[in-house]
Amino acid sequence: MALMGQMMSAPLLISSIIKHAARYYGSTEIVSRRTEGDLHRYTYRDCELRARKLAQALGALGVKQGERVGTLAWNGYRHLEIYYGVSGMGAVCHTVNPRLFPEQIAYIVNHAEDGYVFFDLTFLPLVEGVAPHCPNVRGWVAMTDRAHMPAESKVPLLCYEELLDAQDGNYEWPQFDENLASSLCYTSGTTGNPKGALYSHRSTVLHSYASAMPDALGCSASDVILPVVPMFHVNAWGLPYSVPLVGAKLVLPGPKLDGASLYELFEQEKVTFSAGVPTVWLGLLQHMQANQLKFSTFRRTVIGGSAAPPAMIRALEALDVEVIHAWGMTEMSPLGTASKLLAKHHDLPDAERHKIQEKQGRVIYGVDMKIVDGEGKELPWDGKAFGDLLVRGPWIIDRYFRNDASPLVDGWFPTGDVATIDADGFMQITDRSKDVIKSGGEWISSIDIENVAAAHPAVHMAACISAYHPKWDERPLLVVVKKPGAEVSREELLQFFEGKVAKWWIPDDVAFVTEIPLTATGKMQKLRLREQFKDYKLPTA
Ligand code: AMP
Repeated sequence: MALMGQMMSAPLLISSIIKHAARYYGSTEIVSRRTEGDLHRYTYRDCELRARKLAQALGALGVKQGERVGTLAWNGYRHLEIYYGVSGMGAVCHTVNPRLFPEQIAYIVNHAEDGYVFFDLTFLPLVEGVAPHCPNVRGWVAMTDRAHMPAESKVPLLCYEELLDAQDGNYEWPQFDENLASSLCYTSGTTGNPKGALYSHRSTVLHSYASAMPDALGCSASDVILPVVPMFHVNAWGLPYSVPLVGAKLVLPGPKLDGASLYELFEQEKVTFSAGVPTVWLGLLQHMQANQLKFSTFRRTVIGGSAAPPAMIRALEALDVEVIHAWGMTEMSPLGTASKLLAKHHDLPDAERHKIQEKQGRVIYGVDMKIVDGEGKELPWDGKAFGDLLVRGPWIIDRYFRNDASPLVDGWFPTGDVATIDADGFMQITDRSKDVIKSGGEWISSIDIENVAAAHPAVHMAACISAYHPKWDERPLLVVVKKPGAEVSREELLQFFEGKVAKWWIPDDVAFVTEIPLTATGKMQKLRLREQFKDYKLPTA
């Protein structure tokens, strides 16, 4: 007979995280900028009590285990209570991205079969438009108190604070199978309908442990952590779980994500660590440079969601902020890799060290990755060969919600990204496979081109897309937004590439625009750009 281990068996449940924070970091603060306009502060102890009241209120509303409860909300304490109250009672916390089109939101709410939807007041007009198309939602809950409830609304509303006030908090978190569903996020599919990634308690707790480690996000109780990445985008990269898990002070920026508001909050609350997509840091850096500001406590940030341009990494370092470049996706909970250096790298000359830091980095324990060629044959880890990136692990998707077709290839999940891996295991994304520029059968990395352009002092934002070429099929076209008041010509920009990339990678042309469209998760919308420039005639054509 097999000899079994003799340790206690305790399910890995999300409720255990907030229980731990309340018991061992009970007086540690959570500070939130509210949609009401003010700053709200309370502690992990308060948060857990209110999450228990919410679990009771959901029970009173008839919410059952496994039922989906939607949110349309900013980063704030009530949203955090919903994360824990909903999952903790055994229902599924379904965060919906309010930046999507109303039709997509209705599709997602209906596909998920949300029984209730909680929303911040900012999104009342959105709710009023979407509600008539979501007949199965039993109630829309405004996340505010009675005094701030809208005087009139086209949709009957419940009041969040009233729901909580009706409960006494005398509630024990239920124990159940750690493999039960806990939360749900839809990918913002640029083509076709969004698809749901359904996380479990087990996958979430394991991801929280792993992502908090020093070579991953590196969260500690001595940090003050401000997730700029929204709680409606892959659970804010897991920070609403990993921050209470380590007991750090949590600062939630609410709806105000502009440079000035973020800077004020960073300084006032003594933030040490943050996380967000490149476009957010662009706004913050611009505000700091324009006003010649410095950070007093901010020392480290994670950048992910899109490639962090080297120029941005350097600009943050000049402000004494270490950048951790990270990569992941909704289907991966999301964290896969992070770019922390190895001991042997510290003595390298700056330029060589920078090259390593700019990569998306090494996997955290739990994630396994490989790159393959067109036939599925594994490629060498030499930092040069690039191919389709595949991953597997206990917090990586097996199947999409309510879709039986398996997305896996021999047990691996194809990420849709193209990457290299070097001998030390540092992975670098060269492109999204749809965005690669195929020039005469050879591939050009659009990210490499964008990174060079972003380093030009007159460039605010740059996207590189393919344009039709009669001989080469596709050639790179650089689409550029200039910094306010800055000037640069097409010729000057193209010259800037010389010596920085292979000659045949230099774009054939530059198109100056006033704006590059962004997706609901802050990525440059290259699909839209390609449509916009589909009849573009290259001067070389
Ligand atoms: P999402 O599911 O919205 O988080 O998008 C995931 C996709 O974002 C990945 O498959 C990548 O294409 C892209 N992505 C995420 N992080 C990075 C990064 N650090 N560098 C380049 N692309 C990234």
